[in-house]
Amino acid sequence: MFLMRIVMMGPPGSGKGTRAHIISELYGIPVITTGDMLRGAVREKTEYGIEAKAYMDRGDLVPDSIVNGIVMDRMGKPDVEKGFILDGYPRSVNQADALDGILKKMGIELTHVLSVVLSDKVIIERLSKRRSCPVCNEIYHLISKPPKKEEVCDKCGARLILRKDDKETVVRYRLLVYKETTHQLLERYEKLGLVVETDGKIPLDGLRVHLKELLG
Ligand code: AMP
Repeated sequence: MFLMRIVMMGPPGSGKGTRAHIISELYGIPVITTGDMLRGAVREKTEYGIEAKAYMDRGDLVPDSIVNGIVMDRMGKPDVEKGFILDGYPRSVNQADALDGILKKMGIELTHVLSVVLSDKVIIERLSKRRSCPVCNEIYHLISKPPKKEEVCDKCGARLILRKDDKETVVRYRLLVYKETTHQLLERYEKLGLVVETDGKIPLDGLRVHLKELLG
């Protein structure tokens, strides 16, 4: 059986997480979302959560040493054997090198790097209307995917929030960080013939079919 080992790439708010979860359902493989793992650590006030918070609030990348450690631990779990989707990692050359090392040790290789393409203008508009569940991490959009009850998570009933880093000034900074630090990784993966592009504007109800066509 062909195992999918996918990295999601794309600017913040382009729809990486949404796609990752649809792919996870389609192929029965886990999503490893560093942003959710870090937000969980901040909530639980773990040692690295306390360190990560300031970076996250201002839209900076959390130090590689912390993120690489989290991913290395997670990649050691048994469910990763059936494939995986990395959502939000790697985001720097150092992280991509660390990932290469982890995969080499495991004796496996990536199969796809799914690059979500979307303009800054649409991203800023989209993130200002995004609402997130701080408990189960479900994502909503006030227009395209509103919760059934205003400001309340459909899944777990928690009160939805606008993430601090989804405010426009922070979003603009995150886009800059993406362009300066993360975007260049696409070139590296293009050389390996791994990159497949997906248009960030495809509406939610067409995504399942689109992703199935793209990944086979
Ligand atoms: P995200 O939900 O993926 O947009 O991530 C939210 C924030 O978590 C980012 O702005 C970073 O501060 C931090 N973060 C998530 N993934 C990483 C990563 N791979 N490297 C460094 N920081 C990360």
